[in-house]
Amino acid sequence: MDIREAREALKLYFGYDQFRPMQEQIITNVLKQQDVVVLMPTGGGKSICYQVPAVVMPGVCVVVSPLIALMKDQVEALLVNGIPAAYLNSSQNASDQYEIESKCLKGQLKLLYVSPEKLLSAGFFSFLKRLKVSLFAVDEAHCISAWGHDFRPEYTQLRALKQQFPQVPVIALTATADRLTKKDIQEQLHLQQPEVFIASFDRPNINLSVRPGRDRYKRILEFLDRHQGQPGIIYCLSRNSTESLAGKLKKEGYNATYYHAGMSANQRAKAQEDFLRDNVQLVCATIAFGMGIDKSNVRWVIHYNLPKNIESYYQEIGRAGRDGAKSDALLFYSYSDVMNLRSMLTEGESKQTELQLVKLERMQQFAEAAICRRRILLQYFGESQSKNCGNCDICRNPPTTFDGTLIAQKALSAIARTQEKANMGLLIDVLRGSRSSQVLQSGFDRIKTYGAGRDVNSMDWQRYLHQMINAGLVEMAYDQNYSLKLTEQSKKVLFENRKVELVKFEEVKQVEAPLVKA
Ligand code: ADP
Ligand code: ZN
Repeated sequence: MDIREAREALKLYFGYDQFRPMQEQIITNVLKQQDVVVLMPTGGGKSICYQVPAVVMPGVCVVVSPLIALMKDQVEALLVNGIPAAYLNSSQNASDQYEIESKCLKGQLKLLYVSPEKLLSAGFFSFLKRLKVSLFAVDEAHCISAWGHDFRPEYTQLRALKQQFPQVPVIALTATADRLTKKDIQEQLHLQQPEVFIASFDRPNINLSVRPGRDRYKRILEFLDRHQGQPGIIYCLSRNSTESLAGKLKKEGYNATYYHAGMSANQRAKAQEDFLRDNVQLVCATIAFGMGIDKSNVRWVIHYNLPKNIESYYQEIGRAGRDGAKSDALLFYSYSDVMNLRSMLTEGESKQTELQLVKLERMQQFAEAAICRRRILLQYFGESQSKNCGNCDICRNPPTTFDGTLIAQKALSAIARTQEKANMGLLIDVLRGSRSSQVLQSGFDRIKTYGAGRDVNSMDWQRYLHQMINAGLVEMAYDQNYSLKLTEQSKKVLFENRKVELVKFEEVKQVEAPLVKA
């Protein structure tokens, strides 16, 4: 098998003339039996990366997917394309499962989708050993990382794949690309010197803006007025608000529907169909909506409420503009949303809660930020960009800045001298020369930068540090007690005297003033 055969299969079964550049590289590696990790944004074309190898390699490709609801759709799509495929999960009865298992044993399937529960269930590995497994594809691989936004404990058991089937290559795929997730995927799946492919997460065609939450209903009407007839999604926090908002918009004459997990499967399928077929213009939905929806001409996404974290936000706005045409993402931000989310998160007491709260704070900082929003997002996903995007509200209406080089140098040098061990609270204490017990215990009162930032109050220090994180000058290590770390860019500030522009706190607040133009 080589890439030429794969290209023929792409044309024959999927009707596409060529691979996207990264798909070709990935598939070349898979066909060489090499383990690979694929980090590619939603819509990038990850499925082809294992479906085409599955077709051309002898045996059956086993796809592990946590989303039972999507398995059926994916299998149906494959069958329509003439590729024999099936799925096994807990929703099926014993005789259905038996029938699929016997098809596998007869070598009649090219792809078998399984839930992680099914894969790890008793006797399943011995069943797989009776088959010729060509490839394991681990979809939504970020679920393995406790630092990610979608941790599923059973995923951590997937390391058994490499132990039990050391000769079968593994392809792990996800649309999340932060550093910790990437590391967890490689380490926990015990992949053997995997090739890691990271596609750019930039979606330059999506215009980003953030507006204050007050009067959001009125603002939405104005927005819709400028987007007549264009399909879009309004994400709301609660099921009730999806229904009431859709009701109100209908009264205004908009062709709107709603979608949330409290509806029956039939109702949900209908709402989804109506949207896909352009029978309705817009859907007011909870985050349950959108997973696996392949609608390329969504022109806008509105967040009625602040999302829980940047990962979710990015995934949700990423449903707009998959066709590459100009699209809009509008986020409404209010402090009461933050409070609501905080209380929802703190209901469950766990280590995860702390992490979720820190992630919520990053989300809040994004909403309050005063530098190019796209740079912040890309920075968050580990891609640093030196230019402002020109397609966000901040770029279009930049706040005035002052030369904050000295402030930044003080902070960075304090981070270096605390050996990158201090979290934000402790670092600010050190900078301000506090005699708190934590400072004294750590001995940080003896370092050179101790008290060097007395002239700036704690609140402002927080704002400045958040700006520095947003700008990629400082990194927060979730896996090391949220300690602050230096980056490549911070070294330029420390050692090459690179200038840093900061925004004063008062200015940050003013950014909430209206600024969006159509
Ligand atoms: P992901 O899983 O990364 O979100 P998908 O695999 O669902 O992305 O692919 C997104 C869309 O791109 C689908 O409509 C798919 O058919 C299309 N696509 C994927 N690869 C190609 C290709 N080589 N040429 C044209 N279209 C492609
Ligand atoms: Zn920008």
